Amino acid sequence: MKKISFDDLSGKVCVITGGAGVIGVSIVKALASVGTKVAIVDLNEELAQQVAAEIAAETGAVIIGVKANVLEKESLEAAKVVINEKLGTIDLLINGAGGNSPQATTQVEQLDDTNIQNLEASFYGLQMEGFDKVFALNFKGTLLPTMVFTRDMLTNRSGSVINISSMNSYHPLTKIPAYSAAKASVNNFTEWLAVHLAKVGIRVNAVAPGFFITSQNRFLVLDEKTGGYSARGNKIVTNTPMGKFGDPSDLQGAVLYLLSDISSFVTGIVIPVDGGFNAYSGV
Ligand code: NAD
Repeated sequence: MKKISFDDLSGKVCVITGGAGVIGVSIVKALASVGTKVAIVDLNEELAQQVAAEIAAETGAVIIGVKANVLEKESLEAAKVVINEKLGTIDLLINGAGGNSPQATTQVEQLDDTNIQNLEASFYGLQMEGFDKVFALNFKGTLLPTMVFTRDMLTNRSGSVINISSMNSYHPLTKIPAYSAAKASVNNFTEWLAVHLAKVGIRVNAVAPGFFITSQNRFLVLDEKTGGYSARGNKIVTNTPMGKFGDPSDLQGAVLYLLSDISSFVTGIVIPVDGGFNAYSGV
């Protein structure tokens, strides 16, 4: 009987956008552990190269850091030339660049009689500039790298793409309408592209992480003064049946599963990795 393993990922070339971030680093380590060659494509070139060198030294894997902006097609095309030259043709893609911004976040969860005098703190005070940036980073920043980095997969008639979605793609979280709508659009696009590419050997899926404390949400879930959870942080833990925030390493298994041929008949799905948050009604 054939042994089930991630061996098919060994020697393949994977691009991960936003790979120098908190979640990205954890995924790069998982890829390194199964012998995949990795190109970390990130806006922060210095950090991408530093992360690549550190994980390569630790694991012996082949990892490079390449600068590109996921919102600029030309910069992605230039990165592809470098990746092809250094690592070969691209087999796998993870669209990890994304996130929220305080500029696209309301200060209050709901409008009511106590705060209606301060509309600036609500939906009505949102700045379109912040809204546009968050929407573009998460949606266009998934679409454009996919257009560029799946070209080799098309030629090879084989490939796997993973988009990084979020819990708020299923039910919007309060305060962050742009991020919620953008991640919902990522799920929708995942399904659309999975259908579009199903006959040319490219699978497209997504992972929806639950709650992890990272640079992007620290200001929302931790209390600056006490260092403990904010009211929102407490709400998250209370509504996560496992009763805790996740660790970025919790995403590794789902990502390797979707990249590997183990999931060869799986396309167009979004896997929640959330300690049960999405399954829980709160009662
Ligand atoms: P992070 O901020 O730690 O990392 C994001 C990385 O993306 C950074 O290295 C940054 O330099 C890079 N980046 C930003 N803009 C870019 C651009 N225009 N072009 C190229 N690179 C760019 O974020 P993270 O917490 O690791 O999140 C990674 C992904 O996971 C995001 O899509 C995020 O929305 C999603 N996510 C995070 C959480 C969480 O709890 N942290 C939960 C659900 C989903």
